[in-house]
Amino acid sequence: MIDAKDWLEFAEKFQGHKCPALAMGLRVGAAALNKLNVERAKDDELLLHVDVGENHWAMEYVDGLQVITGCTTGKGNLIITHKGKWSVVLTDLEKNKAVRVTPKPEIILSFRKTDFFKNYRRKGIRASLAPDEVVEPVINLVMNSPEERLLIISDVYDYNHTQPPRSFNSFVCEECDEVVIEEYGRIKDGKMICIDCANNHRAED
Ligand SMILES: [Zn+2]
Ligand SMILES: [Zn+2]
Repeated sequence: MIDAKDWLEFAEKFQGHKCPALAMGLRVGAAALNKLNVERAKDDELLLHVDVGENHWAMEYVDGLQVITGCTTGKGNLIITHKGKWSVVLTDLEKNKAVRVTPKPEIILSFRKTDFFKNYRRKGIRASLAPDEVVEPVINLVMNSPEERLLIISDVYDYNHTQPPRSFNSFVCEECDEVVIEEYGRIKDGKMICIDCANNHRAED
C-alpha cells in the first residue's frame, strides 16, 4: 500500500510550490496503485492516461500523478488525452488490468469556492505567492479526506493496450546535421531531413 502523505514533501519540492491540484494528483495516483495492487513503476510496467489538457488550470495535477505512480513523461508511460477532465486510467501492462479514478465533482467544485482559487489562481497569481494560511487548508482537505469522500474508483477491469515499440534507428538530417529518429524523418527533393527543415523553420529567407 502506498500512502500519498509520504510523497507530499517530495512532490512540492519537485513542482516548486504547494497546491491542492498537486495533492489531488497524489491521492488519485495512490488510490489507483492500491486498487490495482501494484508498486510505483520502476520502468514502464505501468501506463497512465490522464484526461486533462494543456489549457486546464489544474495541469499541475499531472506532477502529483507522476511523482506517486512513477509514470513519467521521460519514461513515455504517461499519456495526456487532452479531454479537459480529471479522470485517469492506470494500466498494469504485465497483467493487462486497469482502473479508472476520478475525483468527485463536489470536491473539484469546492476548490472553486476557496480563497486560494478565487483570489489567487483565478486572478492569475502564481501559486507560490499564496500564503500558507490560504493554501494549506485546501491541501489538508485533499490529503486528509477519506478516499470514499474524495474519489470515484472503478473496479479493476481487463484492458489490452498495445504500445508501439521505442525506436532506436536514427539518421543525420541532410540540411541541419541534427540527429533524428527515423520515424520522424521527411523526404524532400530526395534528401532525408528533419521536420523543422521540412517546414522551412530554419530557412533564412
Ligand atoms: Zn501546483
Ligand atoms: Zn534538419
